[in-house]
Amino acid sequence: MNKPRAAVIGSGFGGLALAVRLQSAGFDTTIFESRDKPGGRAYVWKEEGFTFDAGPTVITDPDCLNELFALSGRKLSDYVELISVDPFYRLCWEDGTHFDYVNDQAELDRQIAARNPADVAGYQRFLKYSESLFQEGYVKLGHVPFLDFKSMLSAAPQLMKLEAWRSVYSKVSTFVQDEHLRQALSFHTLLVGGSPFATSSIYALIHALERRGGVWFPRGGTSVLIAGLVKLFEDLGGTLRLDSPVREIRTADGRTKGVVTDAGGFEAFDAVASNADVVHTYDKLLSGDARGRAAAKAVKRKRFSPSLFVLHFGLKTPQPQLRHHTICFGSRFRELIGEIYGKNALAKDFSLYLHSPCATDPGMAPPGGSTHYVLSPVPHTGTADIDWSVEGPRYAETILKYLEERYIPNLSRDMVVSRIFTPADFSSELNAHLGSAFSLEPILTQSAFFRTHNRDDQIPNLYFVGAGTHPGAGIPGVVGSAKATAGLMIDDFMPVPA
Ligand SMILES: Cc1cc2nc3c(=O)[nH]c(=O)nc-3n(C[C@H](O)[C@H](O)[C@H](O)COP(=O)(O)OP(=O)(O)OC[C@H]3O[C@@H](n4cnc5c(N)ncnc54)[C@H](O)[C@@H]3O)c2cc1C
Repeated sequence: MNKPRAAVIGSGFGGLALAVRLQSAGFDTTIFESRDKPGGRAYVWKEEGFTFDAGPTVITDPDCLNELFALSGRKLSDYVELISVDPFYRLCWEDGTHFDYVNDQAELDRQIAARNPADVAGYQRFLKYSESLFQEGYVKLGHVPFLDFKSMLSAAPQLMKLEAWRSVYSKVSTFVQDEHLRQALSFHTLLVGGSPFATSSIYALIHALERRGGVWFPRGGTSVLIAGLVKLFEDLGGTLRLDSPVREIRTADGRTKGVVTDAGGFEAFDAVASNADVVHTYDKLLSGDARGRAAAKAVKRKRFSPSLFVLHFGLKTPQPQLRHHTICFGSRFRELIGEIYGKNALAKDFSLYLHSPCATDPGMAPPGGSTHYVLSPVPHTGTADIDWSVEGPRYAETILKYLEERYIPNLSRDMVVSRIFTPADFSSELNAHLGSAFSLEPILTQSAFFRTHNRDDQIPNLYFVGAGTHPGAGIPGVVGSAKATAGLMIDDFMPVPA
């Protein structure tokens, strides 16, 4: 029997994980990636000895990655070394206090008690709640496709029991009283594009996910993990084509027939899976198909996550005072987030995530130096009309000044290289609708069945994988979506004989 031929459009974590699963299952799989390097949001730049990972740096649930290698009897550790990160994060506030979010219960209790003794017991109750969310939302539902409303209804009673309609922040506030602890236990939604004040409390499962599986960093950076997945895919016989943007998904008689690229023209495939942005896929790649046009209209009406302003910089000095992951809370939390999600302007203040990988892996910078990026959540281009070619350099200056005053003395003196990545770049480089950094906003009414389905409702051999599909953004999310999508494709093309 001929192997089914599958095209995967895009080599983000979701696209790669899907391609590995398909190739492991016996498909003949080709990935088409428009950029010159794989990884999507996990792209990489190397400059003057500094390695700048473009996107994900907090690697959680290594088991979801191990599983991809185990499918073919291989081991992740033969491809990539994961280093444990400790503390998981350092959270800093402008009043000069900080909280080290570690995986050592006694140390956590000590720090919580120093803030508010009553919150020690509250935290224990929160952890239990987060554990039950983890079992329901991640273990049971994190990698199953929600194709019909019935599947949603069957999950509903449990979700209601866990009060999934409440926001993460509101639920966290029922367990702990200290405002800084509330922020510490709810900021995670921002890492997957959600406001702590609007994202379903289901997302509080991230806390249990981190406590159980730890936080990791690949030696050499996230790009090494991407390279490991590419090598695994190629070792399995798959083909990756870089610099190969797909221009069209061709359809006829209600099915996809293949893809069109500039270099190769039309190429026939039995199945096409898109890891590209969902609006881009329906609106641009399927513009010749009535289904594409209708679906594009519908998905454009949904709410999209904000964008990010990312500033990478390399210093000629080490920065031993910094931990690997620092959250720098600004003076406002709720109000600032409200503006990021809804105001047609760039706020004057910010809350930042500072990445300093040399704390774990000094090889990310030339000897004696240090590599960093700082990220500020900002409105997407549909919310705020900002000319980033003008505002970007200005905003970078403001952020660098703030970091120099509070976190990195002599930053400007020691700077060797820097680069910025703005919402405009998310649009132009990644085809991201409105420059969103995380695709559809993870609110309850856009989750599971209400998110883009892993298989199109009308074109039966067209599939989706990645942040715009169930369960959503973040590496564990998109790797889970790949499991859901691969399951459908395997069932559709390789049914088990009765
Ligand atoms: C700055 C930043 C920091 C983050 N930090 C973390 C973190 O620490 N931990 C975490 O778990 N998550 C993090 N995330 C979220 C996480 O990175 C993403 O949710 C995830 O990587 C998205 O993967 P994806 O599979 O959806 O594909 P994407 O990464 O979106 O890749 C899609 C790919 O499709 C390609 N493509 C688009 N159009 C076409 C076309 N027409 N033809 C061919 N190819 C095309 C693009 O070039 C791209 O390579 C972060 C995100 C950002 C932006």
